[in-house]
This record gives sequence, C-alpha cells and structure tokens, in this order.
Amino acid sequence: MISVKHLSKTYRNPDGSSLTVLKDINCEIQPGEVISIIGPSGTGKSTFLRALNLLDPPTSGEILYNGENILAKGYPVHKLRQKMGMVFQNFNLFEHMTVLENIMYAPVKILGVSLAEAREEAVSLLRKVGLAEKAEVYPSSLSGGQKQRVAIARCLAMNPEVILFDEPTSALDPTMVGEVLSVMRQLARDGMTMLIVTHEMKFARDVSSRIFFMYDGYIHEDGTPQQLFENPKRSATKEFTQRIRRAVFEVGDDFDFPGMFTTMTRFCIKNNISQYCERVEKISKLMLTDIMAAYRPMTVRLNYKEIADEASLDFMVEGLDHSPLDSTSKEKIHPLCREIIEEPTSRGFRVKILL
Ligand code: ADP
Ligand code: MG
Repeated sequence: MISVKHLSKTYRNPDGSSLTVLKDINCEIQPGEVISIIGPSGTGKSTFLRALNLLDPPTSGEILYNGENILAKGYPVHKLRQKMGMVFQNFNLFEHMTVLENIMYAPVKILGVSLAEAREEAVSLLRKVGLAEKAEVYPSSLSGGQKQRVAIARCLAMNPEVILFDEPTSALDPTMVGEVLSVMRQLARDGMTMLIVTHEMKFARDVSSRIFFMYDGYIHEDGTPQQLFENPKRSATKEFTQRIRRAVFEVGDDFDFPGMFTTMTRFCIKNNISQYCERVEKISKLMLTDIMAAYRPMTVRLNYKEIADEASLDFMVEGLDHSPLDSTSKEKIHPLCREIIEEPTSRGFRVKILL
C-alpha cells in the first residue's frame, strides 16, 4: 500500500544552517497493518508522517502509494489526503462550527456528498465514537478526549484507506487518554490501516502489528511488538523500550511528606497507574515513619516500568550493610505488596517493594 524508499528530509534554517531530520527511511506498509512509530522526541516521527501525506515534502527519496509515485510533479495532493487521513495532537477542529458541521464539512465541500447523506453519515460516526449526544454543540464545550474523538470521526467521514495519528493522546489529561485509545483499538479491529506516533507503550504493544523505532534519522529497528519490546536487537531500542520512569525523593530530617505524596499521586496519574496510589502512600508512610524511621537520610524512588507494567518503591540507605527489615516489619508490608526484595547495592542497601 505504501512503499518508502531512501526518504530524507533536511530543514534549512533562515540563518543558513541546516538540520537533516530524516536520513534514509525505508519501509513497506501493507493494507490492514497497524504500525506504531515510537522513539525519543526530535527524531523525526512527525516529520515522517507529514512527509507521507505531503504536508511537508521530503528532500529526496520515493513514496509510492498503491504503486503511484506521490512525489511526482502534478500528483493530485487532495486525492492523496482523502485516502490518507491525519489526526493531530491538538485536534484542529473548526471552533466556529458545531460538532456535526465539523464532520460534514469536508465530505460536502470536497467529495460533493449531499447534505442529507453527510448528516446521516456524521451521526452514525458520532455514534461510533460514543458522542451521539454532542452533535449540536460547539467544540469549546467538549473535553480534550471528546474533541479528539470528534477529530477521529471527522477523519473517518472522508472514508480514508489509511489514517496517520500524530501523538493523538499527548495533549490530553491522563484521565481522557483511555477513551481515545479505545476508539483507536476499535478502528484497528475493524481492519483500518493505521500509522500511529505514540508514547503509549502499552497501547502500542497491544494494538500494533508492527513497531518502528525511530532514532537518529532512521527506522533504527522494526519488528513485531514482541520483538521490539521483549527482545530488541539494538541497544538504543532496548534503552528506549525498557526505560523506567521514576520519581525520586531525598528524605532527610525535616522532610515535606504531604509534598512527596502529592508528587507520588501525580506520578501515578500521569503514568496511568492510579490503582497504586493508595498502596504507594500507605507503604511510604509505614516505611518512613515506622519501619525505617531511624534510617534517615535515605532515598525513596517510585519506579514504573511501562512495558512490563511493573511499579515498585525503593528505599535506599547509603553505607548500610544489612537489611533494615525484621520479620515483624515484613509482616506489616506483605499484605500491601507483591514482593519484598532486600539487596545490597554498591553504595549501601536497598529495600525494593514490588507493588
Ligand atoms: P518528533 O516528532 O520525533 O518529536 P519532529 O519530526 O517534530 O520530531 O522534529 C524533528 C526535528 O526537526 C526537530 O529537531 C525539530 O526541531 C526539527 N523540525 C521540525 N519541523 C521543523 C521545521 N519546520 N523547520 C525546522 N526544523 C524543524
Ligand atoms: Mg512529533
């Protein structure tokens, strides 16, 4: 369906300097594939999507769409954009039009669909994204998650063959990420061909047929989710996919507990693991004010390994050569966790509690 060969993109800045963002991108995409594009920010993921639908033409290389060279002079760009929809991070809805008008606009103006037909289709698409009751309101009255679902419905109204998503959930409040991802999951199940730039690793792993890891201007590694997440061949891929998110606290004599719990709660919400909030707080309180009260200063870390979906709390004391836990204290912690790991480190001792 899409074949990309030796694609490159160099941005020339007004001051004469230049930046080569895409160096040599090669890939083949088959109908029905769901491909997640992951990688650190600034590695050209958005540039790649924009090159594919000609919002930002590449410097060199070839893009074939259903066998046709879309970079050839005179290729009808508007035809391509009908077949290749795009959903942006910031929704880009028309604020002065109702939700229904947003969805009807392009089919009527560009495809020449009748008003009645466009309306019927728009209503059915709104139902599909769970927003049937919002047809007559303006985008300003919607939440971010709802706006993005409208943007997806608007994109579907053009009946595209493939949809490009550029970080569709990164502008959303964490509580609204799920509703957008579930609409996308449904599209994937329906067989829509999708290219999704995302930082939602669990989603990428569950929903994708393939993953592209972009790094340094190349598709540095590609493969099934299992290959990339569980058995990456290259070290940069490994570092990225198996990274751990952390909140770190240095706990001294006078320490701001409420501040720490607030940060911990934010961390849990941000990483979509609010189910751990309560236990994180209980364990921390127990450890800091009771079991390990005599071991300050210490370092507390709340860790989350996204791919393994594994959260843990570390309590680390420098210069300590034995475990601060006795059997009574372990009995207190056990009901709150999956496992307690007591281990010496190069600089002291660590109690790791798996949540
Ligand atoms: P990603 O989506 O992976 O975060 P982008 O494709 O947005 O990365 O950007 C890659 C690099 O290209 C960044 O360093 C960015 O600053 C640069 N870049 C993006 N768009 C432009 C532009 N229009 N002009 C100049 N530089 C740009
Ligand atoms: Mg981007």
